[in-house]
Amino acid sequence: MTVQENVSLRQYNTFGIDQYAGHFVQVRELKDLLYAIDFDSKHIIIGGGSNLLLTRDIDGLVIKNDIKGIEELDNNKEYVLVKVFSGENWHSTVSQMVSKGWGGIENLSLIPGTVGAAPIQNIGAYGVEIKDVLVAVEAIELATGKILEFSNEECQFGYRDSFFKSKEAKGKYFVYSLTLRLNKHGKINTQYGEIEKKLREKNILNPTIMDMHQAIMEIRQNKLPDPAIIGNAGSFFKNPILPNALAHELKEKSPNLPMYKWNDHESKVAAGWLIDQAGWKGKRIGHVGCYEKQALVIVNHGNATGSEVLDFSKLVQDDILNKYGIAIEPEINIW
Ligand code: FAD
Ligand code: NAP
Repeated sequence: MTVQENVSLRQYNTFGIDQYAGHFVQVRELKDLLYAIDFDSKHIIIGGGSNLLLTRDIDGLVIKNDIKGIEELDNNKEYVLVKVFSGENWHSTVSQMVSKGWGGIENLSLIPGTVGAAPIQNIGAYGVEIKDVLVAVEAIELATGKILEFSNEECQFGYRDSFFKSKEAKGKYFVYSLTLRLNKHGKINTQYGEIEKKLREKNILNPTIMDMHQAIMEIRQNKLPDPAIIGNAGSFFKNPILPNALAHELKEKSPNLPMYKWNDHESKVAAGWLIDQAGWKGKRIGHVGCYEKQALVIVNHGNATGSEVLDFSKLVQDDILNKYGIAIEPEINIW
């Protein structure tokens, strides 16, 4: 393991932003990590860099997580317990589990990044979140090097949120492994977004988890920009959760607004729809724009800086606030 000096992070973030790390190290096992956190107390962890916007150079050590491995802890008629180390690629983990017939994460297919980042924002797609299958997180407390275990409840999962994003915990833990409980005869969740339409197109009446995996990959490949071709970090903003009165008022003004029950008092509205209606879909300013097929995704058309992306995102936020009176919040981590 070598600690490198003054390293461009361009290839380590899917926005393709060219900021530098004072020091940079790739950790492949626990002892590398323990060495790294001793080397410099100012450190930042990076997985696949697919939920990040870099707006400055990092003065400190960037630790790139490459700790890999998958272990079967239990396997019975109903379910399996699998421990996955955090540097594994998320999508490749999903593919491996689906090929074995183990269900629960097929709707989370083709989400970029590492396993270790999955609980940080409680990744979600098509009605499933990592919290639905997560039993425990093993994490290293960065100040002490101690290994701690967090139960699902202790992770305090919320909508694209967890304990690890809270003020109290942010930047203090390195997620080392996840234990997932995957089902052999679980329920298949087709009732979301474009899944049913895609299954109909493919003449699939009783989908298996492999059918779901493939259908979701096809939908996503069609709709979302591939970061290898055009820089982006997925949805830039979270969908706002609004008090019912406000959501219904908005729906009266804009009857086509996609709105979903959140709980008895609140509703979720689609931020992408608001951004699209406000005229931003496909719009470009300099090197930055809203993706032409999904306005919630901000893209780097070329050599944008992180500040240019951030400035663009603020224009979108201000416009949505002016037009709809709603403050949309970034989902991605801005450094
Ligand atoms: P990074 O961007 O490297 O890091 C994200 C944050 O987690 C940072 O704060 C980092 O410090 C921290 N972190 C990373 N690893 C660790 C660790 N081991 N320990 C502690 N902290 C850590 N997200 C969804 O939820 N649903 C989607 O459907 C989805 N679709 C996407 C589609 C595209 C095209 C793209 C580009 C992104 C999408 N995302 C989606 C966002 C992103 O892929 C996920 O949030 C993913 O989990 C980020 O993983 P990463 O390894 O790239 O994290
Ligand atoms: P979509 O299907 O066009 O739907 C638009 C929005 O409506 C989504 O954001 C979704 O909310 C919500 N929605 C759709 N059907 C719903 C239902 N039956 N019940 C409740 N809410 C519903 O969205 P898309 O852009 O193609 O994305 C598909 C899925 O992938 C979504 O779950 C989305 O979150 C996920 N995704 C996430 C990212 C990211 O970076 N975070 C990037 C791309 C896609 P939710 O977002 O709350 O699910």
